Amino acid sequence: MRLRPVTRCAARVALLATLVALALPAWAQITAIRAGKLVDPETGATSANQVILVSDKKIQAVGSGLTIPPGATVVDLSNATVLPGLVDAHTHLCIIVQRQFDNGDYFFTTILRSDAYRAIEGVANARDMLAAGFTTVRDVGNAGNYADTALRQAVERGLVPGPTIINAGRIIAPYGGQFHLQPDRRELGEPEYFFADSRDEMRKAIRENIHYGATVIKIVVDDQPYIYSVDDIRFMVDEAAQAGLKLAAHCWTHAGARNAAEAGVASIEHGFAMSDEELELAKKNGVVLVGTEFTQLAEREMGAPGWHATMVDRLRRAYRIGVTMAFGTDTMFGYRGETRGTLAISQLDSWVEAGVPAKDTLKAMTTTAVRLLGVDSERGAIRPGLAADIIATPDNPLDNVHTLKNVFFVMKDGAVFRNDRAAAR
Ligand SMILES: [Zn+2]
Repeated sequence: MRLRPVTRCAARVALLATLVALALPAWAQITAIRAGKLVDPETGATSANQVILVSDKKIQAVGSGLTIPPGATVVDLSNATVLPGLVDAHTHLCIIVQRQFDNGDYFFTTILRSDAYRAIEGVANARDMLAAGFTTVRDVGNAGNYADTALRQAVERGLVPGPTIINAGRIIAPYGGQFHLQPDRRELGEPEYFFADSRDEMRKAIRENIHYGATVIKIVVDDQPYIYSVDDIRFMVDEAAQAGLKLAAHCWTHAGARNAAEAGVASIEHGFAMSDEELELAKKNGVVLVGTEFTQLAEREMGAPGWHATMVDRLRRAYRIGVTMAFGTDTMFGYRGETRGTLAISQLDSWVEAGVPAKDTLKAMTTTAVRLLGVDSERGAIRPGLAADIIATPDNPLDNVHTLKNVFFVMKDGAVFRNDRAAAR
């Protein structure tokens, strides 16, 4: 941990902040957060005794010794560590797989649950993710017929609490998607997946997704014996880019990961058992790995023996090689006594097991992830002008990363969603 000394520069920041506060309209409600420690995940630096001034949903000023304007609401986190809200770059908010209900097979879940019910599951999961400290997520499909778009809009309009959501709509895939259908019930695979085999179908699928509210494109490259080629993927990357969207590629096999890395997708999802050579290719082409490293509990509940060890090994190798990585959990299952948020944050255990240092894990959960999601000019750091998405933990996560499981304060867009210490008084 490195404490930044108070300098003349800090004094200038203090003066500037006071001027900023004075310049705010009289009606603007100001919240002042006293941070005992403030972590900047980008640099891995910790500053002591900082004040953050928040108004109009945004961070107005940050520094030590700032004057707190009269009338401001003061949040005292002087015994805690304050940091930007976390990001889960691979969620499925609108589905909960439960073994006793669907035998742990999400094909059955999609048949048994209505989209209306799944949207309500999305509301509960969004709330629970926010409570756990995730203020931004990228929701990569499996939301039926655009339940994810409805959820995103409801959160944006303030109807329900939740993280900022970047959503994929329907997952685009070669015929069959991630299911193994039988010919008398061929209609059961859609709308969960959007089958697209020809170039015309791919273009149509992307445009239809964007029309119905997708803000990222998600493809499945390789869950069938026939997979998308490098040219197919490049075609879809270009089509999505024309509308300003990035493309995330689910890759399970070596061939799938190679094709996606070669095509230069924004991110490879899972990359279950990528070889060192495939990881090098991803690194060379600036592809971010969202590795979704399952915990042992997730492995068991999803009926996937051996996945945990394989994914931790791949995480260890990806870190050693220097692939850019964003934290993404792929949490889909429900488990008694846990919420979607507590299950998602528990995936930290895989990063610890792989030996990734806390500062790099934290970066993957914040700085790198907001860049991948394309929202880094709006949120993801505690800096003037950015959205006030702020959390607090009892300890400094750079010293003890497990403290991220004990987030007790969450501010989203300047509004306090959770402050357990205030409630305890
Ligand atoms: Zn997934």
